[in-house]
Amino acid sequence: MDQKLYRKLNEQVTHEFFAGYLYLSMAAKFEEKSLTGFAHWMREQFKEEQEHAMKIFDFINSRGEKVELMPIPKPEAEWEEPIEAFKLAYEHEKKVTGLITEIMDTAIEVKDYPTVALMNWFVQEQVEEEENVIKIIEQLNYAQDNKSVILMLDRQLADRV
Ligand code: MG
Repeated sequence: MDQKLYRKLNEQVTHEFFAGYLYLSMAAKFEEKSLTGFAHWMREQFKEEQEHAMKIFDFINSRGEKVELMPIPKPEAEWEEPIEAFKLAYEHEKKVTGLITEIMDTAIEVKDYPTVALMNWFVQEQVEEEENVIKIIEQLNYAQDNKSVILMLDRQLADRV
């Protein structure tokens, strides 16, 4: 496998775990605030990011390359209001989309079509990820500072599977 592409894929494993870690830190803070629906949503997001990491982990192995796990940075997201957390989540997802695009560009450049196929899945997944977060931001925007509407949204997000 092309080494530049391999390095990017290997790094992406850590990026996906970091995304999970970021959401888990948000889940913890929502728990602290007793906003258990938002916390639940973030926990589900944490699980999804782990699945993303493992998808690439398995792919690297199946291509006969070695997975090298790297340290996961400490998530440092500073926020108080739910909308700020979701805005940070959105900014982070846009960053991840950029990383996926870079891997896709490299895979096309070196004609590694199995990686192109895998990245196609990730490209579509990123559209969904961004869309989900945008919807919550928009709903929180409608709520303004109305606490009862925010609580209602919290209850609603508790049902995410
Ligand atoms: Mg991801």
